[in-house]
Amino acid sequence: MTTVGTNRPRIGEWHGYEALRRLQDAALPAALRAAARSPFYRRRAADLPTDRAELRTTGLTTKRDLRDAYPFGLLAVDRAELATYHESSGSSGAPTSSYYTAGDWLDLAERFARKWVGIRPDDMFLVRTPYALMITGHLAHAAARMCGATVVPADNRSLAMPYSRVVRVMRDLDVTLTWSLPTDALVWAAAATAAGYRSDRDFPALRALFVGGEPLSRARRDRLAALWRAPVVEEYGATETGSLAGVCPFGRLHLWADRAVFEVYDPRTGRTGPDGRGQLVVTPLYREAMPLLRYNLEDEVEVEYRECDCGWWLPVVRVLGRTAPDCRTGGPPLTQSGLEELVFSLPAEYGVMFWRARAGHAHLRIEIEVADPHRVPAVSELTEAVGRTYDVAVDVTPVPPGTLVPTGLLTATADVMKPRGLFGADEDWDRALRYY
Ligand code: AMP
Ligand code: MG
Ligand code: ZN
Repeated sequence: MTTVGTNRPRIGEWHGYEALRRLQDAALPAALRAAARSPFYRRRAADLPTDRAELRTTGLTTKRDLRDAYPFGLLAVDRAELATYHESSGSSGAPTSSYYTAGDWLDLAERFARKWVGIRPDDMFLVRTPYALMITGHLAHAAARMCGATVVPADNRSLAMPYSRVVRVMRDLDVTLTWSLPTDALVWAAAATAAGYRSDRDFPALRALFVGGEPLSRARRDRLAALWRAPVVEEYGATETGSLAGVCPFGRLHLWADRAVFEVYDPRTGRTGPDGRGQLVVTPLYREAMPLLRYNLEDEVEVEYRECDCGWWLPVVRVLGRTAPDCRTGGPPLTQSGLEELVFSLPAEYGVMFWRARAGHAHLRIEIEVADPHRVPAVSELTEAVGRTYDVAVDVTPVPPGTLVPTGLLTATADVMKPRGLFGADEDWDRALRYY
């Protein structure tokens, strides 16, 4: 077994961007040698880099490359050395594999554990992301275990864990930390209300919400923090890479550039640079099972090398998310985060948390869930804000709470999870079929 990564950097061990670069240069040769052991990169032998200068001119690895290499084309170790196999959530249908050794898992867990509030042995950590195929649940689980916390493995795609059960567990177990999509934490707040609780008062043990996996605007982050009266600690990552960035105490998302070399690719010019706006490209520095060279995540980002009061000396990243390319506005390009910012900038007492929008050529339709007393001001204020920001014809439709997020989803209880054949005379034997 190879032993890369026994001396992986820790935040606080370097000062300045020159020092960061030296850390990268020290780790690069081993990372490049590891890549040369995978069939995918061996086929590119003529193009394989041996140092940073050569890396900068080597071809990008695309999502398409990963799909074509399904399942084990990027495997750089013996299969016996693998610890886990994963596939990303990919909406395209074609699976993208990733796999990690036990050694890889140390690096993965360390990166996830870089939360500024810290994960402690006395924490009760609710892991509320999928465990099936994706890495996310396992990532939080491993980091929490590494830090000595107690894991409550809750998933968010399991029939065993409906929202009512999340609320019960959060209260009864005094859950201190959670890991989820930001959207999921909003749904818990609605479920807490449905169960007769106040999310900002009845969960005093909660220290922080760890969130990631989807764009999060500042206004929605602030709303979440207010709803749960706890700081929201965002991270950014992917199944093929694990955690790539995390937020500092000053609210900036920093790339883990001591653990990977990051570049920004501009698809229009075909050029890459260290910073600016474009698609994020990553070369992880500590990977055994599945090394990646200049892997294009295809996420639209903006990267900036600047000083931050946190003193981490890590570049700042903004994940910009998709734009609606067909919607012609008179203002900035229409993005989900941009709209979300406006929805969550409505006064909190209107209670608007769930919404959806449909963008036409020069027209935008938005639905918001809003209770009767706030319907009129919510609609007029959102209409005005969207019109002013985007200069586009907008039609805001109020729908009653329970329309976009069904009330039944918030209150449903867990189903019996084991097969059963024999029932009593008074029992509902249709339950027997629920297992299949
Ligand atoms: P997956 O490949 O299923 O693991 O999902 C990873 C993708 O989720 C990333 O490539 C991003 O597009 C998105 N993502 C993850 N975290 C964030 C975040 N904090 N902000 C915006 N998008 C994110
Ligand atoms: Mg992905
Ligand atoms: Zn910072």
